[in-house]
Amino acid sequence: MAEKYYEKDKCPICGSQKITYCGSEIQNPYLFYRCICDDCNTTYDEYYELIYAGMENIIGGNK
Ligand SMILES: [Zn+2]
Repeated sequence: MAEKYYEKDKCPICGSQKITYCGSEIQNPYLFYRCICDDCNTTYDEYYELIYAGMENIIGGNK
């Protein structure tokens, strides 16, 4: 998706590590985090590839 590689947890514009994460959204197969740089107010989305890791909280239904 992105043409350039940006380092995780750093502002892509100023390199600050003071990032505020506000909300996430799944767009299969990626998870997007909305990010705001506290130093220069740049906003961007950080995204992660989703990898199946198992199941939990399985509660059987009555049928
Ligand atoms: Zn910044």
